Amino acid sequence: MKYDVIIVGAGPGGIFSAYELMKRRPGWKIGVFESGTELEKRHCPIDGDKIKSCIGCKSCSIMSGFGGAGAFSDGKYNITNDFGGTLYTHIGRKKALELMHYVDQINLDHGGEGTKLYSTAGTAFKKICIQNKLRLLDASVRHLGTDKNYIVLKNLYAEMKDHIDFHFNTPVDSIELLSREETDGDSAAFSESSLDTPRYRVHFADGSADAHYCIVSAGRSGSKWMEKVCRDLQIPTKSNRVDIGVRVELPAVVFSHLTDELYESKIVYRTEKFEDSVRTFCMNPNGIVVTENTNGIVTVNGHSFEDPSRKTENTNFALLVSKHFSEPFKDSNGYGESIARLSNMLGGGVIVQRFGDLARGRRSNPARIAECTVQPTLQATPGDLSLVLPKRILDGIIEMINALDKIAPGTANNDTLLYGVEVKFYNMEVSLDENLETNHPGLYVIGDGSGVTHSLSHASASGVYVAEVISSEQ
Ligand SMILES: Cc1cc2nc3c(=O)[nH]c(=O)nc-3n(C[C@H](O)[C@H](O)[C@H](O)COP(=O)(O)OP(=O)(O)OC[C@H]3O[C@@H](n4cnc5c(N)ncnc54)[C@H](O)[C@@H]3O)c2cc1C
Repeated sequence: MKYDVIIVGAGPGGIFSAYELMKRRPGWKIGVFESGTELEKRHCPIDGDKIKSCIGCKSCSIMSGFGGAGAFSDGKYNITNDFGGTLYTHIGRKKALELMHYVDQINLDHGGEGTKLYSTAGTAFKKICIQNKLRLLDASVRHLGTDKNYIVLKNLYAEMKDHIDFHFNTPVDSIELLSREETDGDSAAFSESSLDTPRYRVHFADGSADAHYCIVSAGRSGSKWMEKVCRDLQIPTKSNRVDIGVRVELPAVVFSHLTDELYESKIVYRTEKFEDSVRTFCMNPNGIVVTENTNGIVTVNGHSFEDPSRKTENTNFALLVSKHFSEPFKDSNGYGESIARLSNMLGGGVIVQRFGDLARGRRSNPARIAECTVQPTLQATPGDLSLVLPKRILDGIIEMINALDKIAPGTANNDTLLYGVEVKFYNMEVSLDENLETNHPGLYVIGDGSGVTHSLSHASASGVYVAEVISSEQ
């Protein structure tokens, strides 16, 4: 197999690279290698009936396959440089925003039309937040919703499948740098810049494929593999942060004044006690709480649907505290993993606790959860989060819940549910230049796998960007 461009991973980063290359260079041969399945075959076995919790499938359908981790997500495309990644540090603020708008337009053209674009511009909540020691971050948010997000992906695939070779169920084992001798044996004819000259060979279970350009977009689920690739190819990396916290679930009416106007409000609070920053993350009005499996560790997340028939009475969002270790211990993700493992050990998966029980220093049990006025949307094990989360993190979360109660009364009610743990792992940051190119010419790393992006919009924008760079080279 010989390609002009090989893309590893068919998440938003890989998809948008492939899509943009197909548009700009219709004559090029592009191969996409993906560990998971095509979109229609992605199916999480948890049905809430026979299978109630994660059974640790070989390839997690929530995280892998066409659409990547974003396929069953809430499809919130945040158009901002304030959060979602640091792509702007490589390509500039203006370019990053421009590409996020470009991606938004592609989504609209592929089934996302009619969805709402929310914005913090001019909102009165900024002042109300500041008056209560909270800070509302600036953003425009396109909310596709899980169902429309799926349709957009389906339409993008339909448009690409006859022009691009998609190899599903094909995890790439390694990436090899080819030397002149290994390519066609004719070292005199070897030209670094010629598209005919393969420079990379990707190896998978039953073969290999060569290409002149290689774009790696392995996302969060490919984090361990990405570390190996960087070690093997001597690509410098540095440790990234980890975000640890809980998912809050409460009656949707408590937050409706915020979610109706802004949909997703990113609010930051500085704790009185430790001056740590606690922030809201991934708000799902009328949504559901779900589990997530990353490398066998079960954590919690949230979804919501655009379809009115699938809306629930509850809103959920995460409250997270960032931790970044550098010296002498630098494994921030390892720290987060240990906390998640502890929660898995005590709860057999995700733990749920009433805020009132946490405040009283007692565990929640099935009877207390059954009597709760908030009906949990995820079946989790009633327990005690104070046995899992470090005191400093837990204190920060409790402080923030009380601060949020001032702008959204009811947040600190006894029956507010807290699910734990929610951990946002970030890939180690790969050393990349302003083109998102590694120290090896023609090898690019994009999306969440690069540690540079942490969101659908930034990952997609990074994909378009590299496609632009590559096609302008030839
Ligand atoms: C439940 C959930 C909800 C989310 N909701 C939102 C949201 O509303 N808004 C938002 O901005 N972000 C959201 N996110 C985050 C968002 O999905 C990611 O930021 C985004 O998908 C990153 O895109 P990516 O292409 O970089 O990586 P991914 O989407 O992770 O895709 C990487 C792909 O590479 C494949 N892969 C990995 N290693 C290999 C290998 N060795 N060989 C071949 N293939 C490989 C994986 O199978 C995967 O399909 C959510 C995430 C989850 C899990």
